[in-house]
Amino acid sequence: MFDRRKFLQSSLFGSLGLFAGKRAMTAKPYPLVVKDNPIVISTWDTGLAANRGAWQVLGSNGKALDAVEAGVRVTEASINCCVGLGANPDRDGFVTLDACIMDDKGNCGSVGCLERIKHPISVARRVMEKTPHVMLVGIGAQQFAVAEGFPLEEQKLSDDAKRAYQEWLKKSEYKPIINVENTKGGHGPFAPARYEDGSWNHDTIGMVAMDAAGNLSGSCTTSGMGFKMRGRLGDSPIIGAGLFVDNEVGAATATGQGEDVIRICGTHTVVELMRQGLSPEAACKAAVERIVRIKGEGAKAIQVAFLALNKQGEVGAFAIQKGFSYAVRNNAGEKMVDSKSWYGYGSTRS
Ligand code: ASP
Repeated sequence: MFDRRKFLQSSLFGSLGLFAGKRAMTAKPYPLVVKDNPIVISTWDTGLAANRGAWQVLGSNGKALDAVEAGVRVTEASINCCVGLGANPDRDGFVTLDACIMDDKGNCGSVGCLERIKHPISVARRVMEKTPHVMLVGIGAQQFAVAEGFPLEEQKLSDDAKRAYQEWLKKSEYKPIINVENTKGGHGPFAPARYEDGSWNHDTIGMVAMDAAGNLSGSCTTSGMGFKMRGRLGDSPIIGAGLFVDNEVGAATATGQGEDVIRICGTHTVVELMRQGLSPEAACKAAVERIVRIKGEGAKAIQVAFLALNKQGEVGAFAIQKGFSYAVRNNAGEKMVDSKSWYGYGSTRS
């Protein structure tokens, strides 16, 4: 069993506290000496396997951009997951996928409402690298993917998704889901994959990484909210909402109710707060606080979580509700960490 606190202190924060202090006092804080890189972090339990995929690139001196693509492809390929073609469909029975990617130079690409393509993150990267655009959606995104050689998969729900959809159709209720992990305790294979009604407890993986050269990149991929309206886009494919990278400052990703992340340009806000000197956790908390202020009582019914990495290799997260966890991998090893939250402040388990 790992000692999470010890791991965090030794590998992520321990040697970096001094840097954080210095940074607040310097007029020109960037670039700083980076410690403990390479490092990759990603949302939810599915992040563990995704980080391993990313580490195959990072651990052999590869680039953060290649790592964040390779990492979330692992999640997209898993048919028994909340992300990719095995995920829950929209209310009309179609699985529609959203993804975006951003590198250390401000290059970015995105796809929205993409159907029948297994790896939306790789299509997003092609949008970034091969078109003059940032975002392609719907049938145009699919046509572009096919022209780029991505196979068009069969239009078919996974067995789990079919069961969940049939269950959902009985009431066809359109209500937000408070996505949490580990409702029964435990991470990884011991965490429950779905709620009792068959819906996933979350639908996204967001990942950010810093490579050995100290450069940052990020990726975010999702099936969006289960049983969403046809055509609905959440935050995940939107640069500045579900993902933002600034190679001078840091990077952040988001998960949870996308509409409320978009409302505050969530990850852009987190990165800008880090630019002003806030730690990753404090920046994530301030962004969560903004949503809670806007939503008032309504905040009790939703989940949003932010996860951030700054240029010094410090990691932090904050969520509205308890139950958000994230995976960290660096040279010290791999760990799951429970995020602090607005409701139920503090770690959910020690
Ligand atoms: N943020 C995603 C969306 O709103 C959902 C999630 O993170 O679970 O589409």
